[in-house]
Amino acid sequence: MRTGGFPCRLLGCDRTFQVVDQKSMDALTAASAARSEHEVAAHSYQHVRLADERSYMSFQRAKAKQASSK
Ligand SMILES: [Zn+2]
Repeated sequence: MRTGGFPCRLLGCDRTFQVVDQKSMDALTAASAARSEHEVAAHSYQHVRLADERSYMSFQRAKAKQASSK
C-alpha cells in the first residue's frame, strides 16, 4: 500500500497525488485539491466533504486552546 498521497477515489483509477512535504499543511491541501480537481476533470466526480472532517479539526484546536490558557 502506498502512503503519503491522496489516491483518486474512483474505482479503477490508480492516480495518486503525492504530498510533497508530509509536515506541510499547504502541501497536504495542495495534493488534496489536485486530487479533487482531477476527479472532477477526468471523471466528473464531485466528492462531498464529510462533515466530521472539519469538526475533528476544530475539536483538536479547541483542546489546544484550553491547554494553553491554563
Ligand atoms: Zn481518477
